[in-house]
Amino acid sequence: MASDARPRALSGIQPTAGSFHLGNYLGAIRQYVALQESHDAFYMVVDLHAITVPQDPAELRANTRFAAAQLLAAGLDPERCTLFVQSHVPEHAQLGWVMNCLTGFGEASRMTQFKDKSAKHGADRATVGLFTYPILQVADILLYQATHVPVGEDQRQHIELTRDLAERFNGRFGDTFTVPAPYIVKETGKIYDLQDPTIKMSKSASTPKGLINLLDDPKVTAKKVKSAVTDTDTVIRFDPENKAGVSNLLTIMATLTDTSVADLEKSYEGKMYGALKTDLAEVMVDFVTPFRARTQEYLDDPETLDSILAKGAEKARAVAAETLAQTYEKIGFLPAKH
Ligand code: ATP
Ligand code: MG
Repeated sequence: MASDARPRALSGIQPTAGSFHLGNYLGAIRQYVALQESHDAFYMVVDLHAITVPQDPAELRANTRFAAAQLLAAGLDPERCTLFVQSHVPEHAQLGWVMNCLTGFGEASRMTQFKDKSAKHGADRATVGLFTYPILQVADILLYQATHVPVGEDQRQHIELTRDLAERFNGRFGDTFTVPAPYIVKETGKIYDLQDPTIKMSKSASTPKGLINLLDDPKVTAKKVKSAVTDTDTVIRFDPENKAGVSNLLTIMATLTDTSVADLEKSYEGKMYGALKTDLAEVMVDFVTPFRARTQEYLDDPETLDSILAKGAEKARAVAAETLAQTYEKIGFLPAKH
């Protein structure tokens, strides 16, 4: 099972909302699709992570299928990669506990995602699960001996923690885990909210008007693009520090049209912001329209969708079980007699 000689990619996305957003797509999912060609790739819908914040059971179930359908619609091919749901592979929670016991309290306290998210949900309402979720993420990655982890910039610190814990375990108990590297595309590692271009576009933190949901009605998407916040200057120039809004739009436009930002700057010389927004709105509509249709096709056939996920879980479990068994042995757990 684990004989594929290619480097291994692993990543996960949360079913915390019905629709993925443009930041998820440009920062992470595009890379998932690309890496399935060159890597032995494992991608999962991380439902265990989704319960770190309040959620509704029926919605979680529905969002898990929505997430899988969108990953397939974006171009993941179950023949080329392993696509599964995290809770279908119990080894995640099992290795998660081991990693919890290897992490310092102070070390976990330094995770900025926890600070941001707990501040948002009210510090007194934050769960221990939210506090330790980066450590579960460590287990997610190490279980598959991943070499590359395609993620957005906001996850860099968690990959750093993963490397630290892999090295710590290997040092203490002997070589067990591959030390993974983050795979973050510089240009699109952080896509910003269209209304507040100083914060990242996020399922949970964005303003509704600043968040481009891939499954929104394309008309709504076009409207959001056209009302994106820019600045009082008029020049269309890439300058993230002084012109965060325009720079964000240029990044999005360049990536979706496979053009360089420099070429865009040239072609918009002397033009107003409105021209860029109108063009980007059109590009966005052309992108999301077929994406929505493909997602709907998968959702209309839940049996096929569920069987793709079942096959994925089976493949994932074979790898995960092997890593967990090695870990248990190294730690000194007495094997159960069969
Ligand atoms: P939440 O706010 O619930 O954490 P999220 O929008 O951050 O949701 P996740 O499921 O946590 O979505 O992240 C999935 C992937 O998308 C991760 O690799 C993450 O780094 C990436 N990502 C999320 N937001 C952005 C963004 N604005 N720009 C680039 N990448 C992003
Ligand atoms: Mg996130």
